Amino acid sequence: MALPLDPATRETLEGRLRFYRDLGLTEFYRRPVDPALAEQLAALEATFRPAAASAPPPAAQQRTQPAQRPAERPAERMAGQGTQPAAAKPFPNASPFALTGSAMQGLVSPPPAPAPQTQPEAHSNDYEDQPIPPRKPLPTPPEISAAIAPAQRAAALQQIRDEIGDCTRCALHQGRNMLVFGDGDPNARLMFVGEGPGADEDLQGLPFVGKAGQLLNNMISAMGLQRDQVYIANVVKCRPPANRVPEQEEGATCTPFLFRQIDVVRPEVLVALGATAATWLLGARQPLAGLRGRIHNVRGTKLIVTYHPAFLLRDPRQKKEAWADLQIAMRELGLKPPARG
Ligand code: SF4
Repeated sequence: MALPLDPATRETLEGRLRFYRDLGLTEFYRRPVDPALAEQLAALEATFRPAAASAPPPAAQQRTQPAQRPAERPAERMAGQGTQPAAAKPFPNASPFALTGSAMQGLVSPPPAPAPQTQPEAHSNDYEDQPIPPRKPLPTPPEISAAIAPAQRAAALQQIRDEIGDCTRCALHQGRNMLVFGDGDPNARLMFVGEGPGADEDLQGLPFVGKAGQLLNNMISAMGLQRDQVYIANVVKCRPPANRVPEQEEGATCTPFLFRQIDVVRPEVLVALGATAATWLLGARQPLAGLRGRIHNVRGTKLIVTYHPAFLLRDPRQKKEAWADLQIAMRELGLKPPARG
């Protein structure tokens, strides 16, 4: 029988479990000195572990058949297909501990970070190792659309929005207040993809406007950009109940619209925020730790994988890792961090 835990202790233990599981360490507590602690940890883990970690991932569609599209800008041409390791040399002047200006507030945290005093809304990305239910091969993404002239991209995005309409194509429409299509510059060089709207986004009809959105804004600022210079969208456009991970059918129904948005914007770099976004963009379920630190190829665009801001709010110690991921994107875009404030 698991021991009762007070909320603070439970929060601490859950944070440690997430940290170790993201490193690929699971069930290491099965043989600890204290059997009562082992039982408690196992019970805790079971509350956010829907499936066995040993299940094989679905077919890697994008990795085995990397998408091709006409290169519109020289920077879009990839040196190779599939994935490539990020350059090993560090980004110049990119020590996260040195970047303490206003742009980095909320992004880089001093270790060790205490538990936040006020917890953000619970979100499925709190637990980055959740699999997409059910575990079966993801659908093949649609063919890459023809390139749209920069001047026509806003209209092309509006056309997609008009096609979506008051969508009832999947069950998620039943609980939404507002459909969250996407937001930002139709000609953005950088595009972020999250999982789905949360409560704030559902009320405002815009992506990443809650606490996680504030942190994403800080991350964008740290990269030397303004929010209106990037484009932001999600895997699903309607809020899943209780912020759960979108079901397979929901993601399969909604992601064709996301892929069309990507094809219209044609960013030079995509950033997948969290495991769900990475899974649907890559067409393969893999642990987040194995996807970070590399440049992937999705629809002819470079893809960087990092943590979802909601996860970073729960575990601020990982912000330094997220900053390292963003530096890869910055290097590909030729960006430099803003001057220290
Ligand atoms: Fe339609 Fe996507 Fe909303 Fe489902 S999540 S109802 S497919 S817009």
